Amino acid sequence: MKNKGLLIVISGPSGAGKGTVYNEVLIRRPEIERSISVTTRAPRKGEVDGIHYFFKTEEEYQRMIANGEFLETAEVYNNFYGTPKAPVYEKLALGHDVMFEIDTLGAKQIKRMYPEAVSIFIIPPSYETLEKRLRLRGTDSEETIKRRLSMAKSELAKYKQFDYIVFNDDLEGAIARVLSIIEAEKCKMDRNEEIVNEYLATMPSKKK
Ligand code: 5GP
Repeated sequence: MKNKGLLIVISGPSGAGKGTVYNEVLIRRPEIERSISVTTRAPRKGEVDGIHYFFKTEEEYQRMIANGEFLETAEVYNNFYGTPKAPVYEKLALGHDVMFEIDTLGAKQIKRMYPEAVSIFIIPPSYETLEKRLRLRGTDSEETIKRRLSMAKSELAKYKQFDYIVFNDDLEGAIARVLSIIEAEKCKMDRNEEIVNEYLATMPSKKK
């Protein structure tokens, strides 16, 4: 008997470093599967279709929505992003853990659709750090950076919808905390109930 996989959601405002934490956790725990999102945004330099995202036209994306193919979908910075449902459910049923890196709206939808999901909110240690990180990335225009900064406060205010908060003050510490959360969640009683009951069933019953 194998446990059903864990669905782990990583979210946080852009500039929180959630993408780095997410990638590092996956390097250290290669058995955790990454969910590949679908997006209508144009690929950035170095991004490969089917690896970083499935890049779709808006028309293709709308067709996927109409067909009910998404577990969640959200509009982020004027582009659509969504998690395809089927591959996630297949992996979970096989007992594989699946981890997502998605925005706060998507995280909320996942919790509604799949309450056992474990949601982790990665937070930058200060506004100053957040601004510095967004500028250092160098991939976005000044206009995009300003828009992302103005959204950061309202995104941070959504902290209550998450199960865990991880301050990304130092990267190694943040990665270690996310790994600990995953380990602890796997040990929860209700995730192990079936296994313990099977174990009990193999034990001889008490003699009267
Ligand atoms: P980027 O364009 O920088 O790759 O991602 C922009 C934002 O979209 C990030 O906040 C990221 O977490 C979010 N995002 C990426 N994939 C998904 C997804 O499948 N669903 C939702 N709701 N957000 C996503």
